[in-house]
Amino acid sequence: MINLYWNSNSIRNLAAATGEQARPYPATIEYIMDKASLEFNKKPEKMDFRAYSISWNITKRCNLNCAHCYLDADFRGGFRTDELSTEECFRVMDQIAEVNPNPFLILTGGEPLLRPDIYDLVRYAADRKFMVVLGTNGTLINKANADKLKAAGAHGVGISIDSMDAEKHNRFRGVSRAWENSTKAFEILNEAGLDFLVQMSVADWNYKEIPDVVAFAEKMGAVAFNLYFLVCTGRGQGNTDISNAAYEEALKTLYRLQMEYKGRLMINSKCAPQYKRVVYENDPDSVYTRTYSGGCPAATHYSRISPEGNLTPCPFIQESVGNLKAASFKDLWFNAPLMRELRDRKNLQGKCGTCEFSAMCSGCRARAFAERGSYMAEDPSCDYQPGKYGGKEITLKIEDTLGLEVEHNLPWTPEALSRLERIPSFARGMVVKGVEKFAEERGHAFVDEALMKLSREEMISKRGAMFPFLKKFINSEAGSGGSQ
Ligand code: SF4
Ligand code: SF4
Repeated sequence: MINLYWNSNSIRNLAAATGEQARPYPATIEYIMDKASLEFNKKPEKMDFRAYSISWNITKRCNLNCAHCYLDADFRGGFRTDELSTEECFRVMDQIAEVNPNPFLILTGGEPLLRPDIYDLVRYAADRKFMVVLGTNGTLINKANADKLKAAGAHGVGISIDSMDAEKHNRFRGVSRAWENSTKAFEILNEAGLDFLVQMSVADWNYKEIPDVVAFAEKMGAVAFNLYFLVCTGRGQGNTDISNAAYEEALKTLYRLQMEYKGRLMINSKCAPQYKRVVYENDPDSVYTRTYSGGCPAATHYSRISPEGNLTPCPFIQESVGNLKAASFKDLWFNAPLMRELRDRKNLQGKCGTCEFSAMCSGCRARAFAERGSYMAEDPSCDYQPGKYGGKEITLKIEDTLGLEVEHNLPWTPEALSRLERIPSFARGMVVKGVEKFAEERGHAFVDEALMKLSREEMISKRGAMFPFLKKFINSEAGSGGSQ
């Protein structure tokens, strides 16, 4: 059986590579199966840890002054010479593509719209088939720049709203009228036809407002709502962190809202790995246990680039594993000692080390480091006592896990492969497994667009909650930057 391991290698590409003329499908399939089984039937380098999503703080410049910013981004003008230049950014994108040709790229800041070359950066990433979104505070969005972002190929924009009380939001963001200007951006984005999500940074002072902000997000036409849990680093170091009880309550509220908004608004938590435990405790079969297989994605599927080019495992882990001006993304991603250390989750200590949910959750490593001084210490924000579910590690069925490698066991038509490429790379492996299972159960020898559609319809009827996710691919794994 032909294995089309590289999702960018369509049947046509394979035909071209084997020097063959395009033939009517499925004659092409049969021919290519013979030919490619000789020339392509070898597995690519196994990538257990693929960089599915990258958060890139492209500038420190910002027009707000948020109390919790991990970047201390408050530079209001001029050009910061220590930031990567446009050309250097292009080169880094080329290097990222060596690890993952279609990553989810979050360009953020500071305020990314304050970087004059932002449209060039978006265009370069989109031309490379990256799924590129902007993490912005939204206050500078106008019709002209929204149109330009869309034309450059941005898939969407994430905007932070922390409260329905403008005064509270503005106090948290450190600038008057921030709420008014951020919310004005929603109308402009709707008019420009650019998808957006609402993100809320949760703390003790606002967690009771989660349902109101979610309702507002839906009313404004957001495609998703993401709840961010702050880690006390950067300027947020002096903040009072959310208490464990409030944290748990916020997660339970989020689960209730996910069920309520099922099929209407994609709702998720970010940087709260134990959310999977909360979901599992409510419904072991829930689709929401199936984000990246290893819980906290830092260094396993996710990383962050600072304005100066430092690569860190996530925005809240400040330790640089190297600078991209001097080293390649691929080398640092695979070989930097801290990246490797963080991937070795069998070294988790304390409760996280003995917990049934360690594979599914694994705790926030940034929080462990910030509060315990060790990346592998237990996550101090979680009050769960391991043992309630028998003490044995709970794992997911492999076909239900996001972050799977793409492995084709059936031939796919070029159109079906092209449709597959519109799905974020971290979801493709799971989608391929699901669609091929659907095909095999119905005796189909190959996958085409019609079959994909049937399979999707069946999945939507069974799992309504995934519908917005598959409809709008705009959901980032973690922080949208200093302005979260
Ligand atoms: S270590 Fe980073 S990526 Fe992982 S949960 Fe914590 S903040 Fe998020
Ligand atoms: S003890 Fe650790 S691994 Fe278990 S649920 Fe809590 S944070 Fe997750």
